[in-house]
Amino acid sequence: MTSSEAESDLLARVPDGLFIGGRWRPAEDGATLTVADPSSGETVKTIASATVADGIAALDAASEAFPAWAATPPRERAEILRRAFDLLQERKDDVALLMTIEMGKPLAESRGEVAYGGEFLRWFSEEAPRIQGRYGTNPEGSGRTIVSQHPVGPCFLITPWNFPLAMATRKIAPALAAGCTVVVKPAALTPLTTLFFARILEDAGLPAGVLNVVTTSSSGPLSEAIISDPRLRKLSFTGSTPVGQQLLKQAADGVLRTSMELGGNAPFVVFDDADLDAAVAGAIAAKFRNIGQACTAANRFIVHRSVAEEFSRRVTEKVAGFVVGRGTEDGVTVGPLIDDRAVEKADSLVRDAVERGATVRTGGAVIDRPGSYFEATVLDDVQPGSKILREEIFGPVLAIATFDDEDDAIRLANDTEYGLVSYVYTRDLARGQRLIERLETGMMGLNVGVVSNASAPFGGWKQSGLGREGGAEGIHEYLETKYTLTPDP
Ligand code: NAD
Repeated sequence: MTSSEAESDLLARVPDGLFIGGRWRPAEDGATLTVADPSSGETVKTIASATVADGIAALDAASEAFPAWAATPPRERAEILRRAFDLLQERKDDVALLMTIEMGKPLAESRGEVAYGGEFLRWFSEEAPRIQGRYGTNPEGSGRTIVSQHPVGPCFLITPWNFPLAMATRKIAPALAAGCTVVVKPAALTPLTTLFFARILEDAGLPAGVLNVVTTSSSGPLSEAIISDPRLRKLSFTGSTPVGQQLLKQAADGVLRTSMELGGNAPFVVFDDADLDAAVAGAIAAKFRNIGQACTAANRFIVHRSVAEEFSRRVTEKVAGFVVGRGTEDGVTVGPLIDDRAVEKADSLVRDAVERGATVRTGGAVIDRPGSYFEATVLDDVQPGSKILREEIFGPVLAIATFDDEDDAIRLANDTEYGLVSYVYTRDLARGQRLIERLETGMMGLNVGVVSNASAPFGGWKQSGLGREGGAEGIHEYLETKYTLTPDP
């Protein structure tokens, strides 16, 4: 098979329907949506686009399936997740290629995401049997206290386009491990990976109705209808802060439990005592992974004035050697952005920074070819007040500003409404500890440029969100606590 035949064969194997109550079916009005390849703009597949009624049918199925799934022994739930993990390993090349086709990231990075995303299945298969409560004498000695954990109920999971597999498994695995049933709504730009993954869970033996997938081009109305339905018990969203704020307002009416993984504006602070080789390697990973389209992407490089020129020279040398192209091509390190809007945003942020005094060390322009491409870019001397220091870039642009002393660095790093992740490079242990205490951030990479890991609690402070995904904390997002008082025996 040629590579294009292999792609066609794979796309033909992706389900094109909604997955509701264990059945694959078209939208009730027959509506469809098209999925495009961002490297060319061409349509790769047409799939069902759910109506509000389809969304409610998915919630019906999740509600019906809930009592039996909640009562399924944790070990059985765990074994289904573990089988899904194994099937994902068997089908990993298909899943990686599918992500590159619909999202654009280089194939090596898609493979990395399959490994990372798969770990949530394995991790939460191990956490399911460890859901426990406690029993004890109350302090007055006049009774016994029982604390027990219970699945929260049917959940609505909304995922973004930038990590099509990992953002789905990071929600689905803990929910199912806890005994919850789910309705998943993937981003309309990248729904194919979720459909393919739903088939994996189906093949792993997940009972009908436990997982339901609604792909749709009308996210707003469908989501609002599900969120306002009193049978829904939990909303988990990953996406932008403005959409998260809107969903929180909708969730307020039902006092719905929510988890929100929202935007970031990560500082990457390089002190004068840093190991510059490590800092440069970390910077490249923190900035260019996923073509810069990660909530954890380093957004502001804050570098001590005495090493700024050397740091800038070294990262520029690396970035100037990047190969831009379709993610399936050998040697490509930077793929297309998700769409033309993303290209326009990167372009306008670069222009604004340059107008305010920044210097373009490499790149800096839109690439004139089919698909949505922007050059891998390094800007230095970025001035305070530039929009690029306030807004999520979500593109391959590395922007360097400078600082003079530690207090200055901390003030600049914290000067944002976001607080998802911070990266710090220093060889001074005490300084590292001071930064752990003073940075307003949910996660921190201390001399490390990538922090995501299924065993760790992922999440943000301030407007970066509410709750944690992964780690021992992740399953508690899907559990309710009940306290019972009983008399002395
Ligand atoms: P987005 O907010 O536009 O969309 C996210 C999801 O919400 C998609 O499924 C979309 O279809 C849906 N959506 C959009 N409008 C909606 C509405 N009115 N009602 C219901 N659903 C709606 O975000 P995006 O562009 O897909 O993703 C990029 C953003 O996600 C960035 O801000 C990034 O930082 C953030 N993100 C955060 C994390 C994290 O863990 N904190 C991880 C990945 C991405």
